[in-house]
Parts: sequence; structure tokens; C-alpha cells
Amino acid sequence: METLIERLWHHTPAGDVVGLLATDLQKGLDRFEVEARQRHFGPNAIPVQSGPGAVARFLLQFHQPLLYILMAAAVITAFLGEWVDASVIFGVVLVNATIGFLQESKAAKALEALARTTLTEARVVRSGETRNVPSTELVPGDILLLQSGDKVPADLRVLRARDLQIDESALTGESVPVEKMATELQRETALAERRNMLYASTLATYGQGRGVVVAIGAKTEVGRISELISTADVLETPLTRKIAKFSRWLLVVILVLAAVTFAVGVWRGQAKFEMFMAAVALAVGAIPEGLPAAVTITLAIGVSRMARRRAIIRKLPAVETLGSTTVICSDKTGTLTVNQMTVREIWAGEQAFKASGTGYEPSGEINTSNDEASEVLSNVAAHQSLLAGLLCNDSQLVEAESRWQVQGDPTEGALIAVAGKAGLNAKQISEQFTRLDSIPFESQHQYMASLHSMGSDPSKQIYVKGAVEVVISKCAFALGASGEPQPLNANAITQQMAAMAAEGLRVLAFASKQFASNRNAITHADLGDLVFLGLMGMIDPPRTEAVAAIKACQTAGVRVKMITGDHARTAQAIAQQLGLDGADLSEPHTLVVKTSHDLAETTDQQLIEIVEEVAVFARATPELKLRLVRALQAHGHIVAMTGDGVNDAPALKQADIGVAMGIGGTEVAKEAADMVLTDENFASIEAAVEEGRSVFDNLTKFIVWTLPTNMGEGFVILAAILIGVTLPILPVQILWINMTTAVLLGLMLAFETKEPDIMRRPPRDPSVPILTGELIGRILLVSLVMLVGAFGSFEWALGRGYSDAVARTVSVNVFVIVELFYLFTCRSLTKSMFELGLLTNRWIGVGVAVMVTLQLAFTYAPILNRIFHSAPIGWDAWWRILLTGLATYAIVGFEKWVRRRRQSKGIERAEATTSKRAR
Ligand code: ADP
Ligand code: MG
Repeated sequence: METLIERLWHHTPAGDVVGLLATDLQKGLDRFEVEARQRHFGPNAIPVQSGPGAVARFLLQFHQPLLYILMAAAVITAFLGEWVDASVIFGVVLVNATIGFLQESKAAKALEALARTTLTEARVVRSGETRNVPSTELVPGDILLLQSGDKVPADLRVLRARDLQIDESALTGESVPVEKMATELQRETALAERRNMLYASTLATYGQGRGVVVAIGAKTEVGRISELISTADVLETPLTRKIAKFSRWLLVVILVLAAVTFAVGVWRGQAKFEMFMAAVALAVGAIPEGLPAAVTITLAIGVSRMARRRAIIRKLPAVETLGSTTVICSDKTGTLTVNQMTVREIWAGEQAFKASGTGYEPSGEINTSNDEASEVLSNVAAHQSLLAGLLCNDSQLVEAESRWQVQGDPTEGALIAVAGKAGLNAKQISEQFTRLDSIPFESQHQYMASLHSMGSDPSKQIYVKGAVEVVISKCAFALGASGEPQPLNANAITQQMAAMAAEGLRVLAFASKQFASNRNAITHADLGDLVFLGLMGMIDPPRTEAVAAIKACQTAGVRVKMITGDHARTAQAIAQQLGLDGADLSEPHTLVVKTSHDLAETTDQQLIEIVEEVAVFARATPELKLRLVRALQAHGHIVAMTGDGVNDAPALKQADIGVAMGIGGTEVAKEAADMVLTDENFASIEAAVEEGRSVFDNLTKFIVWTLPTNMGEGFVILAAILIGVTLPILPVQILWINMTTAVLLGLMLAFETKEPDIMRRPPRDPSVPILTGELIGRILLVSLVMLVGAFGSFEWALGRGYSDAVARTVSVNVFVIVELFYLFTCRSLTKSMFELGLLTNRWIGVGVAVMVTLQLAFTYAPILNRIFHSAPIGWDAWWRILLTGLATYAIVGFEKWVRRRRQSKGIERAEATTSKRAR
């Protein structure tokens, strides 16, 4: 029976639904009822699939071609009776799998934490009050308010809809939004056509609505479809995929080489067993075991560092892309400015007033410009403007912790505060003039309107507030200071507005009109022949950290463009205060400001031609954002674009890095974004770019450090076989080197702090491979040093009459010491260790100390001697080993120095050409 009703909500009149669910259309459920229902129904969440269990996940770690090879080698070695070798190889397989397992759990935890930070909220009516609650706390019977940009948090029966449109593609795949309504439908209406139902996980793209929750969690339609959804994302990016591909390719090459080695050796008449062990040595040596783990770990560290700096990564490839960002297009209000609006100037009835005070405290003074204290309310136009600001308003001021704060839009908060300074009480006024209807502010219309009944007076009044041009275009008259209608002087108003805007003030115009119709609702069409009331200008100071961050971006070769719905003059003044004109830099330029209106006629091709020169886009429409991203991308730019509204979603998707706002942003925008800023601060984007660059640096460092060892080991084995001499290094010894150094030395590079010049170099060109010719050269150079060093000292030891075991211990130590010295040079790809500071990465010190201890144990501890076929060596060997290490450091240091010199010349040349182009 219960399920039957559940499935027939669409076939039940709205009023009956409310009754059946024992709730109240106006007041909603009360607190006790909510608690009782929460206990009964549980949280509104779809049970998350826990994924394979820990054991299964651990076993899955062995499912890798690389480990197959090692395991096959171990089994065959065991068959050949080499128990110790076989167990060491098995040991390595086990260590590898364990590290992989821990890695994965850590990454999964990081992702889970990210999922938690992006919890959605829902607006419900409970006990007669509207409040925001986490959507997990909803219960059947809750009365929910929905507006464009929200994600539908549960299954709802529509009670009231106002142009409500829902994007149901998450459920039905149909991307055209569906219009919803409250009317009862035929019983057999198919799910996709139930226009009076809203389903969890769909998105409101337009309008507003009210609904009652009929199903939550697993009982919702999405819950039914995907009984269990797996949120466990994998840490996968284009880079990890490239590296996985590279490893597979390398594997094949190495296997072929190993086979050739075996064949050549046997053909030359060497023992099959020994040749097999040599082939195994080659395979285990040349395969970079630690690489995939290192990549994952570095990306994971990057994600958490970004999160700490208030940038939450929603789509992992963004971690990489951020480092290559060349243009950041940022919203002005709230991102570049503090979003603390204070009305400074009022202009109404030909009279100007100045308001004092800061913040939202509704007390302070309003004076005329010539400082005569004057009663602002005696100017009827000013009084009406303040009234319009209060009534045509969806926000509230609340005093919490002895501070006044806005609930809602700061622009509207400022209007309440200034009305308070004039002695108008928001609460009293809104009780006196009941609101009958409203048209909410949407950035594409740039105004808001509301309809009020005027107390005992039977007449009704419309109030409008919004962008000056838009409002005056709807006005036919103006109101004078004493309340008499006057002709509209649009020029004078525009001049007044321009003067305010030039000071960086955000200017709003107010208008009103008697509403003669007997309707109790208004549409856009009702807003003609308005009476102009006045203007108000509010400040919203730039964020100080944004000024610094913009400068950092400019030095880093990342251009910053400001995008705003505000007027061009206001935008320009703020842009100047922010330093977008490069005033602090060596090459200031004039700010080019364009509005959507200016660009409406340009073709996409023309936009591409001018886009680079324009720094500020004012009165910007969401469509312009999209065109802008495309035009910039046509220049090969990697574009980060911010957005918060529903209409920003296409631009956020198109951008290489779509950035959504964490506090005021809509769910639709967040869903489309790659990154969410929890503090909505521009400086956090800059920080994320910096971290993105650092991630890439550290990855490259690890790769450049690790590959020479693999190549060196491969070369040594190949050379020994081709020349036909004893192997200078055994498979178990190679495994020892690779495992210990990768963990103790290589991984420490992931903790390397950012290089001091990280934001002084140009962005990374994503089309350039990680390993440039230079780096490949360095890798070859170091592997040759290893070949010569290890092979040479091995032959030297044999020549001195030492045993094979001693000679091999010498060459193992050469490998490790060369890696150790080389590690220090790898701390920076360009700079020397002394420039970086010796102690800036403690972890390296710890790793090196442990590594040296282990190496001494490898050489002198009898048990390790037995396992690894090593033997104690003397001082005559040690100083040779150390010398090889120092030589490596010197050789690579010299190579870097030469390159630095060449590069600085190159940069000078590049700078000369760019400055020529800028002019
Ligand atoms: P931005 O977020 O870039 O500052 P908006 O789209 O919020 O731009 O605002 C654009 C213009 O719309 C503002 O300059 C102002 O004139 C007007 N405006 C902003 N907020 C409101 C509002 N709540 N009600 C009416 N008009 C508004
Ligand atoms: Mg805004």
C-alpha cells in the first residue's frame, strides 16, 4: 500500500499530498516531528558502495604486468633452487603491493574528504521559518523552497512553481530543461513526463518553486536506479595515463632486451642458468618500479595542499592543468573585492547625500554634500529610494556575535543598512507593505522588482531596483524632492552615475509605479512607464590579498582579466585600484574596458583579434564569458574562468579550469566546475596555480632522478653480457637498490618546497613533454656515470684480487652513493643546492641518514651479507665510491650551470621580443 501511494504522488492533488504526508503547506513540519521522522527514515543519502573490501583491494595490487614478471622470475628462481633470491623477489613484490595499497587508501581518503566538503544545502520551511539545512537532514513531508541554480535534494511533489525549469539530464539523459507545474496528472503518466514531480540529483536551471519531499535517500528515483553508487574515484589524470602507457611500452622494450641478453649469452656459450639470472636482473633493474606510486603520491599531495589553500579540486586533471594556466578570468564582486558593500552616496530629487559608517550596522549619519545636517527623509524622492531599497529586497541583516551580517546578497544588505541610518526599520516597513509578488534579481536582467499592497490603502505599488541604464530605460518620469512628478532627465542621471562610478562605486537606480491592475502578480511586461526615484552608490573595496595575487600572476606570466556585471566606469576604477593596469610593474598599460554591449556586434573572429588586449569586461553576460573562453583558447591559452550562476555553467565547462564559488555559488555552477573556492578569494586561484606548478616540478624531479638508475643498471648488465664478463650486480642487489632508494630518497622529493622563482617563470607549455631534450640528456649523462662508475669499480676490485661478493658490494655502493648525490642536484631542475638552501627539505636529511645506515648494514651485517650476497669492503673502496658520488654532483652541477647561463641569455632575448610586441 505504501509503495502504491509513493508511486502515485503525481496523480494526487497537491493539497492531498500535503495532507497525506501530515505536514503543513505554510509552516512545514515542526522540530519534534522532524526529529522523529529522521529517526524513522534515516539520513537522506544514497548508500555509498564501500567498494571491494580491504583484502580484495590488497590482492588487486598484484594485478599488474610488472609484478607478474617479478613473480614469474621468483617462481623460476625458486625452481632453480635459489631460495634466498626467490624470497627477496617475493619480498619486493609484497613491499610494492603494500605501498600501492597504502597509497590508494590515502588517495581514497583524500577524495572522500573532498566529497564531504561539497555537501549541498537545502532551503526548508520548518516551524514556520525558512532555513538552510544540510540536504542529508531532509525528511518526507519537509516543505522545500527551490530556485534556479539549486540541486534537487530529494524527490518532491511540486506545490507551486514559478517558471520553474529543471534539467533532468542526470536522470533521463534529456538535456533540454523541463518546465514544472503543480497540477495533478493522469495516473499512467510516464516518469519522464511527470511535470509535477521533481527528482533528486536533477538541477533547477530557472525560476522558483515550492515542493514537498515525498521520498529520500535510497527511496528516490535515482536511489532506485543506482541502488548503490560508487563515489570512489580513482586518482587518474592525463599524466598518470601517459605514464601508465609509457610504463607498458617500457616493459615490452625491457622484456625484448632481456630475451636478447639471454639469447646472446647462451649463444656465446655461457651457462643457461646464469644467463637467465642476468635477464631477470636486467628486467628488475630497468623497470622503474616506484614511478606509478610516486606520480600518484605527488598528485595526492598536490590536491591536499590546494585544499589547505582553499581550492577544492573536483576534477583531478585540474591539478595538472593549473600549472599551465596562462589566463585567469575572474569575477569582480566578492572574488577580487571583499563583497562588503556600504552605501556612500545617495542622489535623489536633485540633491546629493553622503552616508557615513562602515559594515552593515544600520546606524550612522546621512548628510547633504555641503555638510548641512539635513533630514534625508524630508526629500520625498530620497525617502522613496530608501523605501524601494528596503522593499525590493530578498536579504536580511542579522546581528550575530555583536557584528552585523548579511543573510543574502551584500548589495541588498547595504540598502537595508543605509535605510536604517535614515531611521527606517526594515522589519516594520515590510510588515506595513505586504509583498504580493516579486521578480528576483537575475544577472541577465540586471534588476529586481516587487509588488506591494500599501497598508490600508487599496492601491498597489511596484518597486524596481537595478542597473542604472536598464532602470532608466523603463522610466517615463522622475520624482522631485517634494514629491511632484517631473520630466525625466536621463542625461543628468547618467552624468551623476558616471561621477559615482568613476570613484569605484557600484551604482543602483530605483524606480516605482502604481499598479492599477487587479492582478496580484507581476511580469517583466508590467515594468514600463516607471517613475525614477534616485541613485545610490556603494563601495566594495578591493581585497588586499587580491592586489598581491594579481601582481604575482603578472610576474608569473599569467594574465588576469576582470569580468563583472557592474558598469564599465565602476569596473575600470576598481581594476585600477587592483593594479590590473600593471601600474606597479615596469610596463604599465592603459586598461582596455569593453562591455557586452560593445562586443555584441563583433564576430567570434573579431573577438579573437581583440581579446588579448582587453583587461576588463563590464556588464558582462554569461554568453560573453563563453565566447571569451573560446576566443582565448583560440590563441592557445589555458584559461581559468570563475562563475557562480546557472548561466555560467557552459563557460565553466568550456574553460580549462572552471572555478566555482563555494559559498554563494549555485549547485549548477559547482557541478560544472573543476575547482571550487571555499573562500571565493582570487588569491586562492593564484595559490592553486602555484601549487599546480609545484606538483609538476616535483613529478619531473622524481622522474629525472629515478630513470638514470634504471638505465644505469640496465646498461651495466647489458655491457657485462655483451663483453662476456661476470655480472657486476645481481638481481637481488638491484631489487635492494631500487626499493630502498625509491622510498628513502626519491619520495622525499615530493616534500620539496616550492622553488622561490616558481611564480617568476612563464607557465608551462602543456604541449611540451615532461622530459625535454635537456632532461633526457641529463638522464643519459647520469646513467653513463653510473655505468662507468659501477663497472669500473667492479673491475678494479676484481683486479685487486677481491672476491666477486666484495666487488659487487662495491658496485652496489657506487649506485646508491651516486643516486644519493644526484638526489641533491635533483632538488631543483635548474638551481644548485646552495641557492635552494641546504636545510629547506628536512625529509631529505632523514631519508639520507636512514639510507646510509641501511647501506652500512648491507655491507657489514652478516645476515644481509648472506641474503644479498654482499661482503664487507675496506677504505680503499670507500673513498673511490665517495669520489664517484662527488664527481656526479660536480658533473651535473656543471651541466646545470652551462644551461642556466644559456637560458638566462635566452630569457633576455625572449623578454626583448615580448616587450617589443607589447609596444
Ligand atoms: P557582479 O556580480 O559582477 O558585481 P552583478 O550581475 O551582481 O555583477 O550586478 C550587475 C548589476 O546589476 C550591478 O551593477 C547592479 O546595478 C545590479 N544589481 C546587482 N545586484 C542587484 C540586486 N540584488 N538587485 C537589483 N540589481 C542588482
Ligand atoms: Mg553579483
